[in-house]
Amino acid sequence: MADLYQQIVLASRPTGAPVAENFRLESGQMPVPADGEVLVRARYLSLDPYMRGRMSTSKSYARPVEIGEPMEGETVAEVVESRHPDYRPGNLVQARSGWRTHAAISVEGLRRIDPALAPITTVLGVLGMPGFTAYSGMKVIGQPKPGETVVVAAASGPVGSLVGQLARLAGARVVGIAGGAEKCAYVRDVLAFDAVVDHRSEGLAEKLAKACPNGIDVYFENVGGPIWQAVLPLLNRFARVPVCGVIAHYNGAGGGERDQLPITMLEIVRRSLLVRGFINVEFVEEHYDAFLREIGPRVRSGDISYREDIVDGLEKAPEAFIGMLAGRNFGKALVRLS
Ligand code: NDP
Repeated sequence: MADLYQQIVLASRPTGAPVAENFRLESGQMPVPADGEVLVRARYLSLDPYMRGRMSTSKSYARPVEIGEPMEGETVAEVVESRHPDYRPGNLVQARSGWRTHAAISVEGLRRIDPALAPITTVLGVLGMPGFTAYSGMKVIGQPKPGETVVVAAASGPVGSLVGQLARLAGARVVGIAGGAEKCAYVRDVLAFDAVVDHRSEGLAEKLAKACPNGIDVYFENVGGPIWQAVLPLLNRFARVPVCGVIAHYNGAGGGERDQLPITMLEIVRRSLLVRGFINVEFVEEHYDAFLREIGPRVRSGDISYREDIVDGLEKAPEAFIGMLAGRNFGKALVRLS
C-alpha cells in the first residue's frame, strides 16, 4: 500500500449542480520525480468555488479539467523526495498539486511556507488566494472611506469575511449577508460587522434596506442572483462594485425572477456606478507583497479573524465541494489528508 497514491479525477461534466458521480477516486503507483522536480505529499487541499468552472467547457479565463484528469487545486504539501537542489524532504510548500495525495511536480510555482509565521492552513485562506482576492478587490476597486456603507455577501467565507473586516478597519459601516442564524451570529459577534442580514429568511430586500439607511457605497459582489437584485436599488451615486464572483449562478441557475441586465445598465448610468470585474491574479505582481506585509501581522495578532471548515480524507472532497456550492461550508473549505 505504501507505494500507492490516490487522486480524484473528473469522471463526467455536471449539468447544474455537481453530484458525486461527476468524481472518481483512483489509486495508482507512486509518481517518481524527474530531474528538477519534487515529490510532494499533500497535507491540506483547498476547495474553492472556481473549481466548478473548471468542470465545464464553457469559455473561461482558465482551461477546463479534462475528463479523467485529476481535479485542480491548491495544497499545503510536504516535500518527500527532491531532485532539485533548493528543496529537501520535510520542506513545507504551497503547491498546485490538485486533488491528489502525492504528486511529482516542477518546483516552478511552489511557494515556501514558514510554519512559524501562522498556522499552515492560512496560506490557503486568509493569507492566501481568497484573502488576497478580498484585499486587492477592496484596495484597487472598492476603496472604502470612513463613514461609508460597505455590503458583502457570503460574509462568513474566506473572501467575504476579510472584505468586511478590511472595510471596518477603514472606518466604514459594514453590513454582511449570510445564510442562516449561525453564520449571521458569527458575522455580527466575531467578525464585528455593524449589521447582518440572513438571505435565507424572508424579506431580504426590506431587511437590507433597513440595515443600510444611508444607501450602499461599496458592494463587493460574491453572489449575484436575488442578492444583487436587493442591492441594486440601494446603491448610492458613485458607488463602487468590485465584481469578484457570482456563486449563485455557477450551477447554471439561481438568477432570480427576471432579466436584470437592462435595469442594471440603466442604474450604472443613472448613478455613475463603477462596476469592475476582476480575477485576483491581475493584481498579484503589484499588491501581493503589501498584502502579506499588512494582513500577516493582523492575523497573527488576532486583529483579523478567520474560520476554517475542515473535513478529513481525500475521499470526502467531492461531498465537501458540492456542499460548499450549496452554502453548507462554514468558513474556508479545506480537506485534511492523512
Ligand atoms: P465561500 O466559502 O464564501 O463560498 C461559499 C458560500 O457562498 C457559501 O457558504 C454560501 O454562504 C454562499 N452561497 C453559495 N450559494 C449561494 C447563493 N445561491 N446565494 C447566496 N449565497 C450563496 O467561498 P469564497 O470566499 O472562496 O468565495 C466567495 C466568492 O468569491 C465566490 O463567488 C468565488 O467564486 C469568488 N472568488 C473570486 C476570485 C477572483 O479572483 N475573482 C478568487 C476567489 C474567490 P451563505 O450560506 O452565507 O450564503
